[in-house]
Amino acid sequence: MLLIVNNIQKEFEKGVPVVNKASFTVGYDEIFALLGPSGCGKTTTLRLISGFEKPDHGAVILSNRVLSSNDTHVPPQDRGIGFVFQDYALFPHMSALDNVAFGLTDLPRHKRKVFAEEVLCRTGMGDYKHRSPSELSGGQQQRVALARAIAPEPDLILLDEPFSNLDAMLRTTTRKEVRSIIKKAKMSAILVTHDQEEALSFADRVAVMNNGRIEQIGTPEEVYYRPKTRFVAQFLGKTNIFEADVEGDDYVNTELGKIRLNCRARGHITCSIRPEHLTIEKPNGTTDEVRLGIIAAREFKGHDITYHVEFGAERYIVHTDNRVLFEPSDEVVVKPLEPAVVLEDK
Ligand code: ATP
Repeated sequence: MLLIVNNIQKEFEKGVPVVNKASFTVGYDEIFALLGPSGCGKTTTLRLISGFEKPDHGAVILSNRVLSSNDTHVPPQDRGIGFVFQDYALFPHMSALDNVAFGLTDLPRHKRKVFAEEVLCRTGMGDYKHRSPSELSGGQQQRVALARAIAPEPDLILLDEPFSNLDAMLRTTTRKEVRSIIKKAKMSAILVTHDQEEALSFADRVAVMNNGRIEQIGTPEEVYYRPKTRFVAQFLGKTNIFEADVEGDDYVNTELGKIRLNCRARGHITCSIRPEHLTIEKPNGTTDEVRLGIIAAREFKGHDITYHVEFGAERYIVHTDNRVLFEPSDEVVVKPLEPAVVLEDK
């Protein structure tokens, strides 16, 4: 299975593209996430792939079959794609078993329930097969919806914010289970979410969307540790953004002191360095190059501590483990543990 999304564009209002020239591929057995803030066009992208919307331009191709293009539009039910919607969209008057059996129209009638039960067991819901959706918890309904989507054995499954109705504890465990079910079934999946932790922990690759455009595609480690833009750096977690002039060709002089860059650069640049890539030390007074910062605030979070350190008008956030103890107003030295990432933004 290979899904190719090529340069798709969609406008609901003339001149305002909600999806703007989005291109990406999803490979065999791959879990891909579309991550971005509310309204950035994630769901519309998913609807263009599922066939519920037609693109104004571009193409959607699944395993060499054109599903959407200028002159083709395969209807959703004929695309061989499974969906799990945010509200699960289970039939309320049917049991869990009937919900799953309903879509198995390729099987002879007498085999549908047997197979549906097998799939329900795979998602841990075998014991609940006779219950209706109203007799199931959110997490259980979610698993029935997943069983219904994977039962017809589609090559690709689309998941639109499927964990957002679950409480925090259940969300983490259900996420892990769903990932393992999808991987065991050797299906490919696209997850839509605005939750960066969810995208980073669930997907093999992540596309970060902003304002209809995909700003970066990469593995979770790539987008988190090597963001290309200020938006990606800030959307994926706390970071320190600063501007500086390049010296030599791979370091900058900042209020903290000298910081190495992750690549060669020139001129005035914008950089990002994650709080966990900085560390705090007591000044030892030996190096006159070192600049001193003042601890402005401290957030103790149990297993780690976040410090806000002021260097004149600039403020840096530093995450340390809980053994690095300083008090507000202490004078400290902040040192980079990793190079700063050069961003494309000017
Ligand atoms: P969320 O996380 O809030 O669901 P999203 O990133 O999935 O957001 P979309 O649902 O794709 O965003 O919507 C993108 C933009 O397109 C929004 O401004 C939305 O109001 C608009 N939009 C979506 N569907 C339609 C439609 N059928 N008609 C008109 N505008 C639409």
